[in-house]
Amino acid sequence: MRSTARVQFTPPAPAHDWLPVARPHMPPASAIAPYLDHIDASRHYSNFGPLVCELEKRLAERLGPDAHAVTASSGTSALLLALMALNLPKGSVCALPSWTFVATAHAVLAAGLTPWFIDVDAETAMLDPQMCQTVLSRAPGEVRALIPVCAHGAPLDVEGWAQFQARTGVRVVVDAAAAHDSLTEAPFPMAVSVHATKSLGVGEGGYIVCPNADFALRVRMLSSFGFNGTRESQMVALNAKMSEYAAAVALSAMDNWASTRLLYQQTAFKLRIALKDVPQVQFQEGWGLRWVSSVCVVRVPQEALMPLIAFLKSHHIDSRQWWGDGCHTSRAFTDILRDTLPNTEHLAATTLGLPYCATMDDAQVARLTGLLQSFFQDA
Ligand SMILES: *Cc1c(COP(=O)(O)O)cnc(C)c1O
Repeated sequence: MRSTARVQFTPPAPAHDWLPVARPHMPPASAIAPYLDHIDASRHYSNFGPLVCELEKRLAERLGPDAHAVTASSGTSALLLALMALNLPKGSVCALPSWTFVATAHAVLAAGLTPWFIDVDAETAMLDPQMCQTVLSRAPGEVRALIPVCAHGAPLDVEGWAQFQARTGVRVVVDAAAAHDSLTEAPFPMAVSVHATKSLGVGEGGYIVCPNADFALRVRMLSSFGFNGTRESQMVALNAKMSEYAAAVALSAMDNWASTRLLYQQTAFKLRIALKDVPQVQFQEGWGLRWVSSVCVVRVPQEALMPLIAFLKSHHIDSRQWWGDGCHTSRAFTDILRDTLPNTEHLAATTLGLPYCATMDDAQVARLTGLLQSFFQDA
């Protein structure tokens, strides 16, 4: 008979000086506890309880008086709900970058749309509204929706995409999974992730910033069996609600957001200063200065990428090609139609995630940047 109900978890032991590529920044149990007490008292555990409602209010307030936010069970389900809420005919073509995390493509397929991979801008690593206008004429069918992805949390050209949507009639839905920090109000929906690895770390969860109250209501119904006040299902839907427990973690993460953001900035400043004379390492535009994220993604010369990964690994330093060779190379997506993707291919060959977290100490920063300096000096 088992003598204990405790979870037994023995993580693999890494080298004592192993520097991981990322480390979640989550609120401590003591900060979550008052919210848990609230759950115990109210006995509300899900179905848009008081904590979820409070969280949605606070997420919307950050963006402006007319913003609407609806919570979801993950960033992927947030994107799926936003796509479903467009109410497009089944099989409509939805353009998306191949240069993204696989979740973007999974959401398009789950929404019953036909994905079409297109190329991103070589500099921003994101879709460009001007470029997309020309690309549309090469589509395998009428493009009804398009998903710009905020690359590793970078801010979106909201004005450019608003004009694109107005000009073309193509519905814009933003995968802003990593972009909690850089969001602003927009005339189209944006889906955010609060996965542990993202900047507002909750564990699992997400939210959709909706362009108006009607859209927000539709998203909410889609996340909850198509219910709206009664137990009659009004539309084909799913269960993608956020629980009160997740909202408790999210609210304490929001309480701490200002200081979390400063810690991310502080570490980014240290890395930028230490690497100011290493021009081979190029940070994302504005990263750590105007906006923050939970990852440090840089560009390096193509010929340096693989040797650098091996060099860092030999010094027990982790790094990651976050989006691999692009989604179009994933086995799950081999049948998906695509435009030519030269910029995506070049990004794949030059992009690297370096170790970074909110609480990276000076010794870790010095170790990482010292190795990068010596690698590129000796190169
Ligand atoms: C993290 C991420 C997602 C998925 O979010 P989950 O909360 O893990 O479902 C989707 N798209 C992008 C670009 C991401 O970085």
